[in-house]
Amino acid sequence: MGRMSWPALRDDLLYVMVFGPGFGEAVVLRIPGGHWVLIDSCVIADQCPSLQMLDLAGGEWSYALLTHPHFDHIRGFDRILDRHRAGVVGCADPRVVEWREWFDSLDADELLDMGLLEQVMAAIHTRWSGDVATRWLLRRGDSRPVGTANITVLHPDDALASLQPHPGPNRLSAAMLIEWERVRVLLGADVEQAEWDRIAEVYADLGDHHALKVPHHGSRGAIHACYATGSRDRFWIVTPWNRKRGLPRFEENQGVDLLLRSVSRLCLTGLPVAYESQGPVPAQATRAALHAGHAPASPPVPVAGEHTAQPIKFTAESLACHVLVGFDRTGQIQDERYGRGSVVVRE
Ligand SMILES: [Zn+2]
Repeated sequence: MGRMSWPALRDDLLYVMVFGPGFGEAVVLRIPGGHWVLIDSCVIADQCPSLQMLDLAGGEWSYALLTHPHFDHIRGFDRILDRHRAGVVGCADPRVVEWREWFDSLDADELLDMGLLEQVMAAIHTRWSGDVATRWLLRRGDSRPVGTANITVLHPDDALASLQPHPGPNRLSAAMLIEWERVRVLLGADVEQAEWDRIAEVYADLGDHHALKVPHHGSRGAIHACYATGSRDRFWIVTPWNRKRGLPRFEENQGVDLLLRSVSRLCLTGLPVAYESQGPVPAQATRAALHAGHAPASPPVPVAGEHTAQPIKFTAESLACHVLVGFDRTGQIQDERYGRGSVVVRE
């Protein structure tokens, strides 16, 4: 790992860390007591940042959860499984055959990754059949303890998951709620509006949370009042998606604009451009400036009077394109770090 400097994590905080290098997304949770939960995976400069994080902090994962089998969520997931044999492996959508039909519509670029998808799914099935104790088919209402925290699956339910023909990976993607002491962390996966309608029928108060991994890369079609309504101080993290027109979008009435009507700032792990084109340091920007194509300003300028007034901490160089937040048991932010390429966006 070399001579990376990494301020130690505090054992009394719940940490939420999200990586997103322009394409791809990984969430890492560190629960007090040294419990690690890895959700989805991405690769940055041929490294799996979730595993780098474990190496830096020291520890092993107890849960590796795949929200859905899209290429921006599976890269490196097989490496995560290879590293540790005893952890629980969760997956909402293990139907490989149906995917082949679904993925028939992919472009050449994505088809190249079909091999990777099959490799990841084979790794999950091998683990599940080798030791049933490692198997967790993610379904609405399932709840599992990790340390003194709980992971609850909000989506999908059985009916949707067994639908024929296959409804598509995003519709089956697993949204989750993590609760520890008074802290609530909502992980939106790539769940879009119609599914949030269903989730909201079952789970009230989803707007009552401290951190949110914003669903589906901040796309307009994934924004829903059930989680959006609430305090403007909530900590919302967006990962970009740099293919086609890119996500999130910065125009009026698009994702970033709509999200910033609910919170005072959005933390992007990177911009929707290639990893090589991400900024050299963490930065801040207004939505309008990003929409106009201006480079984000750096170093970041703290805004007086907000709890974000603490200077933004810059983390180790090789852990690029990430946002980290640590909560104490009351839900107060006690630690906040940003990797190279991340951007805090305000209206
Ligand atoms: Zn995605």
